[in-house]
Amino acid sequence: MHMQHQPPAPQPDDWHKATAQSRRSPPKAALAALLLVCATLWAFQFDLFRAAPPTVILVSLDGFHPDYLAWDSAATLNELGAEGVRAEFLKPIFPTKTFPNHYTLVTGRYAENHGIVANTMQDATLGRFSLGRRAAVVDGRWWDDAEPIWITLHKAGIKSAMFFWPGSEAEINGIRPAYYRTFSTDSLWDARINWVMDALKRGAPERPQLISLYFEEVDTAGHAYGPRGAGTRQAVANVDRYLTHLVARLKEKNLFDNVNLIVTSDHGMAATSRDSVVFLDDFVDLDSVVVTDWDPILAMDPAGGDTDDLLADLQRMPHVTFHKKGELPERLHYNSHERIRSIIGIAEVGWRISSRGYFNSNPHRFDGGNHGYDPDEPSMHGIFIGRGPAFKTGKVVAGFENVHIYALLCAIFDVEPAENDGNLDAVRDLLK
Ligand code: AMP
Ligand code: ZN
Ligand code: ZN
Repeated sequence: MHMQHQPPAPQPDDWHKATAQSRRSPPKAALAALLLVCATLWAFQFDLFRAAPPTVILVSLDGFHPDYLAWDSAATLNELGAEGVRAEFLKPIFPTKTFPNHYTLVTGRYAENHGIVANTMQDATLGRFSLGRRAAVVDGRWWDDAEPIWITLHKAGIKSAMFFWPGSEAEINGIRPAYYRTFSTDSLWDARINWVMDALKRGAPERPQLISLYFEEVDTAGHAYGPRGAGTRQAVANVDRYLTHLVARLKEKNLFDNVNLIVTSDHGMAATSRDSVVFLDDFVDLDSVVVTDWDPILAMDPAGGDTDDLLADLQRMPHVTFHKKGELPERLHYNSHERIRSIIGIAEVGWRISSRGYFNSNPHRFDGGNHGYDPDEPSMHGIFIGRGPAFKTGKVVAGFENVHIYALLCAIFDVEPAENDGNLDAVRDLLK
């Protein structure tokens, strides 16, 4: 794409002139020339230093709630926050689920604009999407409503290594991250850190400048043991230890102070129990509805019947607020996409939605924790910590929405952002 400007080839006459001159040159002139070369190299070195390309390591700790930072076991996370910037919380988008929020973090768009409207969804042409449906997860047509940061950077000639980031395994509008991995919960934590270190070891122009790292452990434990469970405390201690290890590896390579380390999470976790469950089949005949997503956000359509009649029956259901598509509160930014079903039920925080049949065979699945609820619920909040040359030091900022992170990343890389719902002004105070 870039034209290479070649210096004009030396003409035979010039060459002769140069050699004739050098034959006549006294040693003093040679010394002066040498000094000039040294001075240029010296200046060039500092120029290179000034123009050093920014590097960002973007870490996602799935389901990490800001309250977990108060635990002693989160020592490294607290240290990173103290040495950099920490937000009181990071407000997720609706629904507060993994895929919609991870895609917001890298696109700056609400779900109705990026199209990943749930972890489990339905599209008129593409069919069904769920986290375990590999064919859907790697199909760029699910993801191409918005531009993820790795495409924005690619357009600016900057490479990304997106390890396990939702969307990173898909070719979106013909572009993939320069490096990515097939998602597997079997990948050990140290292997994941090795991928980051290997990516950093690459020489230019192969070296990626945006590298992501993902750990699901805190979310998995939060579901099983609840946000205050001993198992969740253990998971927090584990991921904190992984970060201690990452920091040590970066220090070993003298990279720690040159990279911008961002640690974030997609949502928090609310405590739930088998005693706080509402059953859809207590209020409507399950044959009269097509349910796309269940818990704690019920996404459904009438199976042929009238939407208003169905809504009237559903309104009798306690602990769930039902909305007709197009009539959800504006602040949820969840109305306009084709993939949003005609009726959306939002459970009160801590409540779960099920059918009698499913619940009776899996009651234990309702004890522990869940997320997906209204992003204004404090239990749904996530974390944001930024440390490195781009960030201020020792600063705690008020909570902000995760739609602004894409603009923040674009500012760090000094690239033009694509259309998005965020605003750099909301996060400018984090930056030096
Ligand atoms: P959630 O149901 O919203 O709690 O989703 C959390 C789960 O998403 C994790 O336990 C992971 O197993 C799964 N997950 C996270 N990232 C990916 C990915 N890139 N591809 C497939 N599944 C993923
Ligand atoms: Zn998650
Ligand atoms: Zn989860």
